[in-house]
Amino acid sequence: MRSTIFLVIAALVLVVVLSVLILRALRSPSITTTGSFSATGNDQADEFHPRRQQMVMHQIAARGIRDERLLAAMRQVPRHRFIPASYQSWAYSDQPVPIGQDQTISQPYIVAYMTAALDLQPDERVLEIGTGSGYQAAILAELAGRVYTIEIVPELGRRAAALLAELGYNNIRCRIGDGYKGWPDAAPYDAIIVTAAPPSIPAALVEQLAPGGRMVVPVGAVGSVQHLVKIEKDASGQVKESYLLPVRFVPMVKGTDKDH
Ligand code: SAH
Repeated sequence: MRSTIFLVIAALVLVVVLSVLILRALRSPSITTTGSFSATGNDQADEFHPRRQQMVMHQIAARGIRDERLLAAMRQVPRHRFIPASYQSWAYSDQPVPIGQDQTISQPYIVAYMTAALDLQPDERVLEIGTGSGYQAAILAELAGRVYTIEIVPELGRRAAALLAELGYNNIRCRIGDGYKGWPDAAPYDAIIVTAAPPSIPAALVEQLAPGGRMVVPVGAVGSVQHLVKIEKDASGQVKESYLLPVRFVPMVKGTDKDH
């Protein structure tokens, strides 16, 4: 009789101890951890994280982009946040995607290729023409010191500025205006990237390039073949042009006098 009571009490104690252990394990931080965060506060552990890693591996690294800082930036920046909800499932596919107002965010490989051609250093200042979604500006901001970006369509420019601020990019300045004029008050720039196609190289932009500066720009008349052109300015101010790739970009439109 006594041994039965002892066994029942022992079993009850065991149940209580096990319950406490199970409850503790469920509450433990090792189960509820949320992943790591970047300097800009972006959560790497969003639901698209695996697709972003695949995108970099198959579309960018596999096509010969080797710059580790650039690959890390492309693994980091949440591209899906720059794309309207209705197209979000295309965010990591190998193509440009509509962003509204008849504009597109460039294919990931083209973003990587143009950025690699700029060979950015961490303290450099970059000018972008054609903010669009703001994605290219975010990639530039991960690699350079300060980014200036101009968009001619006010709705796009405002939306991008708000998103970039929300994501914590406090080294990007956004402006609504005509990119043909550049951003003279913050010139010169170590690098300039143009993400819409002008019919010829805009002179004001070449002028705003610092000695030692690099510029990439898709050049071509509306409806004709465009070429990605790289412009390099040497220490004495001499300019050299080279042709990189045939490309297809939306046209760079002429501004009106109120766009400044
Ligand atoms: N870099 C963008 C994609 C750009 S699409 C991104 O990462 O999403 C090209 C953008 O250039 C469009 O948003 C278009 O409105 C803008 N654009 C066209 N002509 C322009 C001009 N003259 N000045 C500034 N932006 C211009």
